Amino acid sequence: MNRRDLALEIATELGFDLVGVAPLTPPPAASRFEEWLGKGHHGSMAYLEAFRERIVDPQKVLSGGRSLLVVGLGHSRPQVDLETQAGPARVARYAGGRDYHNLLGKRLKKLARRLEAEGFAGPWRQIVDAGPLLERSHAQVAGLGFESKAANLLAPTLGPWFFLGELLLGEELEPTGGPAPGSCGTCRACIDACPTEALLEPGVLDARRCISYLTIEHRGPVDPDLRSDLGPWVFGCDVCSEVCPHGAHAPDLSERFGKPSALADSTGLVESWLAPEYNPKAELRGSPLQRPRREGLARNAALFYGNQPADAAQPLLERALEDGSPVVREAAAWALCRSYAGAGTRLLVERAHARETDPEARAALERDLAGS
Ligand code: SF4
Ligand code: SF4
Repeated sequence: MNRRDLALEIATELGFDLVGVAPLTPPPAASRFEEWLGKGHHGSMAYLEAFRERIVDPQKVLSGGRSLLVVGLGHSRPQVDLETQAGPARVARYAGGRDYHNLLGKRLKKLARRLEAEGFAGPWRQIVDAGPLLERSHAQVAGLGFESKAANLLAPTLGPWFFLGELLLGEELEPTGGPAPGSCGTCRACIDACPTEALLEPGVLDARRCISYLTIEHRGPVDPDLRSDLGPWVFGCDVCSEVCPHGAHAPDLSERFGKPSALADSTGLVESWLAPEYNPKAELRGSPLQRPRREGLARNAALFYGNQPADAAQPLLERALEDGSPVVREAAAWALCRSYAGAGTRLLVERAHARETDPEARAALERDLAGS
């Protein structure tokens, strides 16, 4: 057996669903990425700008590296809802399980050790969750799937429901070749279904409009024009994946990533995010839901209750008008003005406006009061 096939066999043995090899050279998406950055579609993800050179050229990530072993691990599972007073709040399906970084990272390390034991040439470096790589484009080159109109990678059987990881290797391995068979054809279901029109054209995502970006990566206030489009989503969004016919028959892999204890009974979880003392690190141990930090979670909860009002949420939102974070204060004011109208509410928001010291939040409260 040649060295490449040995590496692929070991990766498969370790439980990866998708495996392939690409050369450690700039992938086809490099020029598109530069253009995308130039248009500002990355929003506030400044690290993409800061690391652009490394992102387009993987040689800068592992100097002396020769090959890229790309792996995929399926995570398809049924819809994940959190129970709230207003009815279900939705989180991206992958976030219903334990944090995948650990599992994928450990498995990649095991793979690297096995390859070392087989005498593969060093050095090596593992990457989980994009990091400084255009991973979807490398994965397409390696034959794991094809890049879709939803700006993701679609794999046979799993569709869009999988994580990618990479092992950069010093060993020269023959590429596996791709992309995998399949295409979007004339379908444009994802583009038509996106609640915020974030898919500007086939394969081009404006992250600034994407609910996944807005509720997870983005720090700060959410664009007021997009708030009502967030609907029930409090962490991520799966709409473009859910409508995709390529993932319709993916197997249920819920058991693979289990359920973190914080989600064993999610009743009251979204409400609790509004409490100033909420500590995601302690309360959401082992869950990817920690990522937006307390400020982002409280903001998302406030916007959720603006879109899906519930009597029980009103006192929580009123209390959030005095939150330590201006982002949370103004999200709470937006929710109150939008969905809890009444003389008492208006008075509370007017008082909040009078004491607001943050210029951006103050302007937002003025706008909310003018519109209510
Ligand atoms: S994740 Fe949601 S908001 Fe983002 S592109 Fe897909 S459907 Fe649109
Ligand atoms: S929904 Fe249709 S257009 Fe969108 S990624 Fe899936 S197959 Fe492609």
